[in-house]
Amino acid sequence: MESQIIIDFVAKYFYWAFLAWIFMTLIQRRHGSKGVKKRMAVLYQAILIFLIMVYATILKMNDLTDIYLIIAAIVALMILFFGRKLILPYHSRCRVCGKRMSFERIFYYDDPLCSEHDEEEIEMTEEVKKKIKEIKEEDQKDKPDNN
Ligand SMILES: [Zn+2]
Repeated sequence: MESQIIIDFVAKYFYWAFLAWIFMTLIQRRHGSKGVKKRMAVLYQAILIFLIMVYATILKMNDLTDIYLIIAAIVALMILFFGRKLILPYHSRCRVCGKRMSFERIFYYDDPLCSEHDEEEIEMTEEVKKKIKEIKEEDQKDKPDNN
């Protein structure tokens, strides 16, 4: 491994990956307090991508070869392994019923629950129903009586 092909690739494209990851945290913001952990996870991933990019850039500046990237790969895998609860907090199935969750549920919501078992969501729809009913009743009161 005398080449710098992988170093060049990492130094160049991990920068764009880093920007894409930062952009993702902005998209996640609309899920507010229900996805704080998921947002932090993407931020940690972005930091990791950034550090690998910086390391690759330093290797490139010092004319070192691809073999030195193995160190970064090992360290990155160790960080991912020991920090997996923070960096990769993803579950594909609902904790209550075991059903496969939607992409949105997996990547945006902290609780590993499908929409049927997310208590907050159920409460919200019930609340919305109640509000709609109230508004309808008020509308009828406001209408002038035709009789
Ligand atoms: Zn469920």
